[in-house]
Amino acid sequence: MSTLRRLVGLITTLHMLQSTVVHAWSDHASLAWPLLRVMPEVQNAEPLRVETLNEFVVAERTAIAELLAQHEDWALQNLEHYAALPTELVFDAATADADLEIAFLNAIRINPTRSYQPYRQLMSFEPKTAQETLIAVSELTFLQGTIASNDSRYVSLASGDFVSAAAVVSTASDEPDFGLDIGLYADNGTEHGKRYGFGNQPFGNPNLEYGSQAPFHMGFYHLDWLTSLAQPGLLQTYPLYRTELYRKLAVLAFSTGHDYWGWRFMGWGLHYVGDLAQPYHAVPLPDTGILESLWIVATGKTGEALQLVSNRHGVIEAFQKAIVAQALVRQDWTQSTLQEVARLSPSAAWAQNTLIDELTQDSAAGAAGLDRALVKYAPPKLVSDPVFEFSQSPEEAAILAAIAVQGEDAEAGLTASLNQQMQRFSFFAQAWIRGILNS
Ligand SMILES: [Zn+2]
Repeated sequence: MSTLRRLVGLITTLHMLQSTVVHAWSDHASLAWPLLRVMPEVQNAEPLRVETLNEFVVAERTAIAELLAQHEDWALQNLEHYAALPTELVFDAATADADLEIAFLNAIRINPTRSYQPYRQLMSFEPKTAQETLIAVSELTFLQGTIASNDSRYVSLASGDFVSAAAVVSTASDEPDFGLDIGLYADNGTEHGKRYGFGNQPFGNPNLEYGSQAPFHMGFYHLDWLTSLAQPGLLQTYPLYRTELYRKLAVLAFSTGHDYWGWRFMGWGLHYVGDLAQPYHAVPLPDTGILESLWIVATGKTGEALQLVSNRHGVIEAFQKAIVAQALVRQDWTQSTLQEVARLSPSAAWAQNTLIDELTQDSAAGAAGLDRALVKYAPPKLVSDPVFEFSQSPEEAAILAAIAVQGEDAEAGLTASLNQQMQRFSFFAQAWIRGILNS
């Protein structure tokens, strides 16, 4: 029993550490772009007339109220660890127009303190036109880490402007990392967290700026029995709640002629599809069986194991970000990673069980291979030295140079492993997008 308790300790600590890297892929807009630029369904979409959230919610208040009531019933019946929506937050279509947007944000329980204004991200190769006005990232998020490290450009959009579907869905796919799921728990020290009914945060470190979104952006749907038993909080995750909600809202928006919001809700949901295509978001300890976990605990190597997982998680994300950024700014669509993202899979389809039975299942199955590739190809200091902290290291900022030191084979090997993750992302992203458009 004491071994079990120590295992609980291991897993708890693990998730506090992991919460420092809950971004998953950085810059989801650039990640998705190579796919969006070749998907006929996206490219053939008519330019979208921009609407504010308030305009959409006011226009479709009755249908939204019905949808949210139906979603709540679905969640209560289908999500094993679901925390019910408090009665006072139920969306009331009779709410005054001026209060309707905030009533909607409360009813879907996302952070009501940030702006949901229309905007779009410029791709790195896109020049800003004379008519476009840049807006600071601080207008879109309160997260200081994002504000400090973000070098993307954003332009404001106003009601009545026209914008491409690809721009809306790519931009929106990065938006959930701008604070939508921050501070939603009762013990997060926020006013909305006290009202939202999610209870206390089940895992992740609530003291870290990003920590509180972990249960919404990670999905441990395929835990082994011992971990489930020892740490049931890991099962209290919400990606399926979010994707189903945004899928239904997107379908409603399209069917009622609000295409801008159709693509934007689609993009919000696409974020979680991307996160869960990252094996470190679907498996707590890749390439580690139950016995090995117990051995790690028994030999007092817990802290070392956690540091290694954290560093490997960081290395693959830094590598992905650098590879994609380098190819995208050159518009090098023949680069292998961009090609993998752009590989069309017309048979990919989305169903209600896809996220759990296919996407996270596949991510979990790919976790050990990715972990081993990192150990094989990345410099040992970065992925096999438990004393080293990768996050914010000089190597993180110059990851391609750090990998290049290992020789050409290393870069090729790691790229091949990255591309396997991109193949998963691309397939399920297409399933997600088509699933909504075909509804
Ligand atoms: Zn995320």
